[in-house]
Amino acid sequence: MFKWPQTTTKPQDRYNRSFEPYFWKKKPLSALSKDEWELLCDGCGKCCLNKLLIRGKVSFTNVRCRFLDAENCLCQIYEHRFKKVSDCRDINLNTVLTEPEILPKTCAYLLLSQGKDLPSWHPLITGRADSVHSAGQSLRGRTLISETEVKDYEDHIVDWPDL
Ligand code: SF4
Ligand code: SF4
Repeated sequence: MFKWPQTTTKPQDRYNRSFEPYFWKKKPLSALSKDEWELLCDGCGKCCLNKLLIRGKVSFTNVRCRFLDAENCLCQIYEHRFKKVSDCRDINLNTVLTEPEILPKTCAYLLLSQGKDLPSWHPLITGRADSVHSAGQSLRGRTLISETEVKDYEDHIVDWPDL
């Protein structure tokens, strides 16, 4: 059974540990353990882009949260994110089911909630945390701007096909 590391290790280490193979195919999202839920996150970072709500439609921007590391696409304050960022969203089952529009099309939680499977580049399939980057599915290498530098969010709306 997968054992979540007690101390912070390199992101890729979590895929080197044992977990029930294809657990996401064997039970619904609602039956996943906390560790299994966390493992499903592919680390793309795309949910940490700022969004705009215009006339009832959510639009993604290329403005990243100030705490998102643009290189490894990970939150730099993960353990304390809800205390430090008032509008940081908890990506839990309720969020996935009630606000799917705030997630990118590639998000593992969204795909599974739609009855789809994980993509071939997902780290749980490849066994490598960096496969999300090498497949071009993360924010790495994209033109981003920090929310600390942006003047007008509407100038930064993007229509990337994977959002
Ligand atoms: S969009 Fe989904 S898969 Fe990507 S980092 Fe956010 S929660 Fe994880
Ligand atoms: S604080 Fe929240 S929105 Fe910002 S990088 Fe961390 S998880 Fe993403």
